[in-house]
Amino acid sequence: MSVSVKSLDPSKIDELRAQIRGTVVLPQDQDYNDARKLYNGMIDKHPGLILKCVDAADVIYGVNFARENNVLLAVRGGGHNGGGLGSCDDGLVIDLSGIKFIRVDTGDNTVRVGGGNILNELDHATHAFGLAVPGGMVSTTGVGGLTLGGGVGYLTRKCGLTIDNLLEADMVLADGSFVTVNKDQHSDLYWAIRGGGGNFGVITSFKFQAHPVKNVFGGPTLWPIEKTEEIMEWYHEFIHQAPEDLNGFVATLVIPDFSSFPEHLHNKQFCAIVWCYAGDLKNAEKVFEPVRAMQPYFEFVGEMPYPAIQSLFDGLMPPGLQWYWKADFFDELGPEAREKHKEFGSKIPTPLSQMHMYPITGAASRVGKEDTPWAYRDAKYAGVIVGIDADPANAGKITEWSRNYYDALHPYSSGGAYLNFIMDEGQDRVKASYKHNYDRLVKIKTKYDPDNLFRVNQNIHPN
Ligand SMILES: Cc1cc2nc3c(=O)[nH]c(=O)nc-3n(C[C@H](O)[C@H](O)[C@H](O)COP(=O)(O)OP(=O)(O)OC[C@H]3O[C@@H](n4cnc5c(N)ncnc54)[C@H](O)[C@@H]3O)c2cc1C
Repeated sequence: MSVSVKSLDPSKIDELRAQIRGTVVLPQDQDYNDARKLYNGMIDKHPGLILKCVDAADVIYGVNFARENNVLLAVRGGGHNGGGLGSCDDGLVIDLSGIKFIRVDTGDNTVRVGGGNILNELDHATHAFGLAVPGGMVSTTGVGGLTLGGGVGYLTRKCGLTIDNLLEADMVLADGSFVTVNKDQHSDLYWAIRGGGGNFGVITSFKFQAHPVKNVFGGPTLWPIEKTEEIMEWYHEFIHQAPEDLNGFVATLVIPDFSSFPEHLHNKQFCAIVWCYAGDLKNAEKVFEPVRAMQPYFEFVGEMPYPAIQSLFDGLMPPGLQWYWKADFFDELGPEAREKHKEFGSKIPTPLSQMHMYPITGAASRVGKEDTPWAYRDAKYAGVIVGIDADPANAGKITEWSRNYYDALHPYSSGGAYLNFIMDEGQDRVKASYKHNYDRLVKIKTKYDPDNLFRVNQNIHPN
């Protein structure tokens, strides 16, 4: 049992305050409510103390404070996690949002990024050099949580997952020590953090391999929801054989009545594919010929800077909306599953709720199943269903739709889920998602964090 921060002798907090360069935020402070807010408005946690770190030393003092006082510890990167795993009740939150720095090295196209940076900061810094690091698709997401869970995005087929491009990390371990991990130093930890989440320590800096990507050709194509089965059948045949420079995730969604969308699309359900071609732009129109042969009802496809496609949907998704997440990996997109997609795509309960299937073929599938903890390298898709709405009164409605959609599709899934796409579904789900890699993760967890100090995450229990 952990101790509530409230019950500690106040001198302990004074001592911590004297050690750090960042800030301590307590429940009685004016900025507490802002500091504790998470991206997902469905989650409302009240930490006992938020430690806003500005450097690795602050992180070390925070980790030592939690361990020595037996206080529950959560680590916050971008605060986007669906289940609110960047925070906790009554314990200490190590908030990394003040640890931001980016240095691009054009000698070997590598990038050093702070543990608290978010994706649009990384994209901005690399784009100026004609480079990109594979990330996710909403640019306000934290580099930290996204990377540690895997990182699926527009460059997955061309360059692999984000973890496949992680070369090195600096981290603070449960005993307060600071280590650099890479293929030669602490190689067991280097393996474990490439998918094993925040279980092994606090990453204060990441070093990534970047790739020459400047402008891309992409955007959404839409078909009426009634065509879902036909479009998904074509898509499944097409995408895994397409050039690896081409990515496209298939979705069921509604076009909301925002002025940025043509009015005739408003509040209608669609089967959509959102494309990103990151190859030689001279070839883009040719690569898109098969897509156009499917006669989209509407397309918003063209050349744009990579950071633009990365942030295309940011405006639709401000912080504070209600989000309910369900997910699975899939090997197939067969006729029964396609029928379910049409059925549940036709009853999307609110304009922002949606389903996505991200292809994980190409470069991501060439990494061995045991080379990183990310076990489902041979699945064809990471699928996710998200019920989303601004109004907490609709929380029940979006939850029910997501669960029912998930229940209908789960029989066709490969077993586990991409852990960054689920909320808290318990130990069996974590084990199923790491599959054959779980036991190795447990060994490393037991070696570096035997008391499970880092347990506010998709937790790997030490022995
Ligand atoms: C709108 C939206 C879009 C998304 N799109 C994608 C996508 O395209 N592709 C994709 O792969 N995922 C995507 N995700 C999922 C995302 O990867 C997860 O929500 C991830 O957990 C977010 O990381 P974060 O740092 O923002 O979150 P946080 O809530 O801050 O942290 C999540 C977890 O990571 C740990 N953590 C974070 N940073 C560190 C660190 N530096 N050191 C140690 N532990 C750390 C935390 O302790 C916590 O357990 C999306 C999420 C949202 C909300």
